[in-house]
Amino acid sequence: MLPFKLVYSDGYCLPIGEHVFPAEKYRRIKQRLLDAGIAQAEDFLEPEPASDSDVLLVHGAAYVYKLQTGTLSAREELQLEIPYSPELVHAFWLAAGGSILAARRALQEGVGINIGGGFHHAFPDHGEGFCMIHDVAVAIRRLQKDKKIVRAMTVDCDVHQGNGTAAIFRKKQPVALVLPSSSAPTLARATPLPREETDVFTISLHQENNYPSWKPPSSVDVNLPDGMGDEQYLAWLDNAVSSGLRQFQHDLLCYVAGADPYREDQLGGLNLSIEGLKKRDEFVFRVARTRGIPVMVTLAGGYARKVEDTVTIHCNTVIAAREVFG
Ligand SMILES: [Zn+2]
Repeated sequence: MLPFKLVYSDGYCLPIGEHVFPAEKYRRIKQRLLDAGIAQAEDFLEPEPASDSDVLLVHGAAYVYKLQTGTLSAREELQLEIPYSPELVHAFWLAAGGSILAARRALQEGVGINIGGGFHHAFPDHGEGFCMIHDVAVAIRRLQKDKKIVRAMTVDCDVHQGNGTAAIFRKKQPVALVLPSSSAPTLARATPLPREETDVFTISLHQENNYPSWKPPSSVDVNLPDGMGDEQYLAWLDNAVSSGLRQFQHDLLCYVAGADPYREDQLGGLNLSIEGLKKRDEFVFRVARTRGIPVMVTLAGGYARKVEDTVTIHCNTVIAAREVFG
């Protein structure tokens, strides 16, 4: 048995038919983990769909209403890049529920893996790039609401920039500077200058020359050049995560473990090997474990020419977690 839980539902399969997004990857990952003896049936937890009130912690009421009533405009549906259906809405609500559950389990066991989710291109008021709602943000906001965590960090290693994440968690506006005055003399006493505050620190490592063309700023963005290989990538990852940890203390690390920095990916232009991607996972898990930070994992993208490679990369994330947390 694994020392942590895998959150999975057959309902994760997006009902989108033949598509570059291999919707059946989730089921295949579960099957491979079982067949290879990496996981047992009891390692898997079935999530409940997120509630509408959870989704509304991140997304606007007007957008959620359109999703639930099937009234997206043609343009909005195009931007989503997957065909709308009520079943698709259910699959995304389920993925968000899965991320909430994985985050809760991470707080208990040190790591919790959602065999789904990572829909980091969803914005509060619209979806895009195969992402209808932002499961990771919903999970963070729900755990904050429940007072289980105060601050979180996202480490997004999908080949595409986490534009939705960046937009959702963009730093709050600086508090208006209150100057000492005669009517409030106590303020004159060594009041630190107000800083920009954020409760979620966002790190994104991605290929610069790729979707999304407009990249709203994360807390740390690492814009990688085309064709970067394992060694340099891992050095940049170390650099970015170390820099984040110097600047920010957090109660939960949300790792978006995209499989698409892989050299054979159809939508990616980096040059990582399957082994390099596993080292990436190990690095993130080691950092979390060493510092005692719970880590919640979501899978995000993966569009390898051979779906089997995408499945291998995602299964390796589970194996890496077992090696580090086992
Ligand atoms: Zn991606």
